Amino acid sequence: MRHEFRKLNKSYSYQNTAEIEPKKLRQQIKSKTVIPYQVEFQPPPASLRKICWLECKYCYGASADDEGSPRMSRELALRVLNDLATGGVKKIIFAGYATDPLNSPIIGDLLEKAVERKLIFGFNTKALKVPDKIIEIIKTKKVSKESYMSLSVDAGTNETYNKMHAVKSDAKLYDRVLNNAEKIRAANSQLTLSAAYLINRTNCEADDIHRFIRDFKDIGFNFIRFSFLQEPKDVNLDTEILPKKDDLEQIKGGIENIILAEDSEKCPVKLIDIDHKENIFRKAQTIPCFARFIFPTVGYDGWLYNCSQSSSPNFHSTALGDLSKDSFWDLFYNYRFDNEQLYFCKTSKKLKDSGCRCDRKMHLANKSLIKSNIFDFGEP
Ligand code: SF4
Repeated sequence: MRHEFRKLNKSYSYQNTAEIEPKKLRQQIKSKTVIPYQVEFQPPPASLRKICWLECKYCYGASADDEGSPRMSRELALRVLNDLATGGVKKIIFAGYATDPLNSPIIGDLLEKAVERKLIFGFNTKALKVPDKIIEIIKTKKVSKESYMSLSVDAGTNETYNKMHAVKSDAKLYDRVLNNAEKIRAANSQLTLSAAYLINRTNCEADDIHRFIRDFKDIGFNFIRFSFLQEPKDVNLDTEILPKKDDLEQIKGGIENIILAEDSEKCPVKLIDIDHKENIFRKAQTIPCFARFIFPTVGYDGWLYNCSQSSSPNFHSTALGDLSKDSFWDLFYNYRFDNEQLYFCKTSKKLKDSGCRCDRKMHLANKSLIKSNIFDFGEP
């Protein structure tokens, strides 16, 4: 198996932090020399009210309450990005919580800065709009190797796209996404591109699956991933969107062979279903939590948070602080780890009280660090 192929598989199986060495991490946390594995950066949307293009029922950030909260200014966002690069961060992921990173008026300026500072960048986006400035930047030869764009698509036709994303008009949004995907590929043939598909009862017909795979393979995508939706925080979903356990097995049985038949080394096509194996099926959290050390998140309100799933104003109780008042590194190193048991006891209680919900990558990273037996958590 080629190196690149292995890396892609690992990364899109939620295991890209598997190389973190627990012993080294503990020593670096103690000596305050730890540098995040990656920082997620959530560029601010312009609006104070409707912050996303869509209103997907299954949005992970649907319970975010940002009534009256500010938006990070362009100056602050650029300063933070600069500080991250100066302090040794290598990888920035542009993503959104209850919105899309490309729905930010300053995303072009941020990407320009990231490329200028030689950061590896990633995008988690729906790519419904791709500003010209983004295309111009990714065309340049300066894009760091390992940079990627991951498109959340979740459909293979316009009809299913609109149903899945609660779009009431008959706008041809799937076609628009395909068109943007083509533009991105044409701008840079080396950039790693992946397309993601969350499966449920709305979009599990064979026609949709076939067409989605064929369309994105034809454009030259490098990885196609199917997975099941995780349960969002504090949102009641019907069983069409969030099927029951037995139903999931039935859906899986109907599509597994199609996916398997399309898998290849040139473009892996995978159904990643690890929730039962890893014992994280609709589980809220895996704590004690290490997210703030390995993938802290700059929220759209200019606060620094533990992780991408706990990065909206209603998580200020667990946040690391306000970046308009203190620098990234002052907030990042503002912890006491001289008494590990006390540290984990206090932070775990806070996180439990906040009701945050880990995504799969976080569940797995926390699980493997807990299992390493390197840290002193005290009595369970
Ligand atoms: S959601 Fe999970 S990873 Fe994020 S802060 Fe809570 S426990 Fe940690």
